[in-house]
Formats: sequence, structure tokens, C-alpha cells
Amino acid sequence: MKIIDILSSKDVVLSYEVFPPKKDMPFEPIMAAVDKLCEDKPDFMSVTYGAGGGVGHNTLKIAEHVEKDLGVTSLAHLTCISSTKEQVAAAIEDFKAAGIQNILALRGDIPADYDSEKGSDFRYASELVREIKKHGDFCIGGACYPEGHVECAHKEDDITYLKEKVDAGVDFLTTQMFFDNNILYNFLYRIRERGITVPVIAGIMPVTNGKQIARSCQLSGTYLPARFKTIVDKFGDDPEKMKQAGIAYATEQIIDLIANGVKGIHIYTMNKPDVAQSIRNNLSKIIG
Ligand code: FAD
Repeated sequence: MKIIDILSSKDVVLSYEVFPPKKDMPFEPIMAAVDKLCEDKPDFMSVTYGAGGGVGHNTLKIAEHVEKDLGVTSLAHLTCISSTKEQVAAAIEDFKAAGIQNILALRGDIPADYDSEKGSDFRYASELVREIKKHGDFCIGGACYPEGHVECAHKEDDITYLKEKVDAGVDFLTTQMFFDNNILYNFLYRIRERGITVPVIAGIMPVTNGKQIARSCQLSGTYLPARFKTIVDKFGDDPEKMKQAGIAYATEQIIDLIANGVKGIHIYTMNKPDVAQSIRNNLSKIIG
């Protein structure tokens, strides 16, 4: 099923994200986690794409398993910065042959060895969106950044480029993680004002490892509210306590989002079914 149709037919849509194993890592534990996550019957399962390194077939394998064997709609991610036009075309055709109808079109992070003089076939996700559209009738998602993308000096320019990407053919957007809902509400107001009207799915990261999240937030420029920092300071050194606090924080964030009219919730599961299921159970009456 196309995600845009799911979004228009339900009050609240819940999606999970999984990532495939890295090169030379075993597949079975990831597949077991995927199977467990699908028991929750999320509205769709998003499968990330390793930029470069020839691991794209793992995305296809998992997305196809989710769709065909587990009966859950899948969203296959696809990055373009490290790929040639031919590689991208082949990946899209593989998705099509596997019956995958939804693709999250991403640029991917610029690799350390990227040669800007030489350039590449794709510079921005908007170019990938146009390429996907040439290959068939896919439902296309895009990424967005409520706090602005880390490479973009001005938030308003980031929204200008986001509008360009949506106009190229994006049907819905999924956000980068954020820990202060007011940042999302402010972003939604600004993008709506600029004419971006597609559905926006809010990306929620349940924090189970305080130190790791502090590092990745520093890299991505994600704001950590004082309330959140206090929790990490208090429980960050005790994995069980941090996990419980992280689940509670994510649950509260989601309840506030839904209460304020947000219709799409995306959980970055980090391949941890127990964490996603605890959040799901906390919301059993709120998300049917
Ligand atoms: P773009 O939309 O191309 O934007 C990248 C930068 O270029 C921004 O700063 C933007 O403002 C700027 N820009 C865009 N167009 C123009 C233009 N015309 N002129 C000048 N500047 C422009 N990474 C992976 O490797 N695999 C994944 O599976 C993956 N999944 C993700 C899922 C979500 C929901 C999110 C939020 C991110 C994901 N990422 C993934 C990370 C993503 O690839 C990086 O954040 C990457 O740096 C940007 O990708 P993008 O598609 O948002 O790029």
C-alpha cells in the first residue's frame, strides 16, 4: 500500500525504523528484530540504506521480507550521493520488481573521501526524487530537519531547498529526531507558511544510551532541553534506568504531539523491539 494512502485514511499513523546489518555482520539477529517489531503491526516499516559500501541489497532483502512475509507496508530508503545514475536506476528497478511502492529519497551524508572537484551524478535528494519519478508510480518520502540541516547556515534557505524537494515530487516528509516538541510546532508553522503542505511524520528517538545520544546530538546540532539533560545526567550511567526513563520521555513526547494534532509518529527503534513495544503499550488506547 502507498504510505500517502495510509496517511489519508487514519487518524494517527505509526511507523518504525530498522537498519540492516553492516557489511559482514550477521543477518539473523536483525531479521529476528524485524519480525518482532512487525508483531506490533506498525502502519509501515522504514528500512534504512547504508550510504556506499554496496550494502543496498540488504535494504531490499529486509523491505521485501517485511512486505511479503510479514504483511506490513515497507518504506525502502535510498541514498544517492555515493552512487552513479546507473546504480541508482538499478536499485529503483530492484525495488519495483520486489513490489515495493514506497521509497524515502535521500542524499546521504557526504563521504569523507568525496571529491567535490570531480562531483557526482547526484548532489541533492531533489535530483533523486526526479529520477525515481521517471521509473514509475512510487510514493516518495523525503527527510526534513526541524532545527535546520547541519550543513545549511540559514534555516530559511533550508526551507527553500525543502520546498524545491517537495515540489520535485515528495508525497510526505519524515523529520530528524528532536527532543523539544515546540521546535517541531515552530517548524510546521514556518513550512506551512512557505507553502509546504505535504504530511509531516515526527521522528522520535527513544534514548536508551545517554552518552551516545549526547554525542550524536552534538554532531547533528540537535537541541537537548534542560529537562532531558537532567534525566541523562541522573540515569545515563545505569542502562536499565536510562532505558525506562527514555521510554517514558518518548511516550510523553508522542502524547503531546498527538494532542497537538500531529498525525504521523515515526519511532527510530534502533532495532530494539522491547523499547518500541513498551512505547506502543503505553499508547495502546491512544494509537489504536
Ligand atoms: P538534501 O535534501 O539533499 O539536503 C542536504 C543539504 O543540501 C541541506 O543542507 C540542504 O539545505 C541543502 N540543499 C538541498 N538542495 C539544495 C540546492 N538546490 N542548493 C544548495 N543546497 C541545497 N542517511 C543514510 O545514509 N541512510 C538512510 O537510510 C538515512 N535515512 C534517513 C531518514 C531520515 C528520516 C532522516 C531525517 C535522515 C536520514 N539519513 C539517512 C541521513 C541523511 O542522508 C543526511 O541527513 C544527509 O546529510 C541529508 O540528506 P537529505 O536527503 O536530507 O539531503
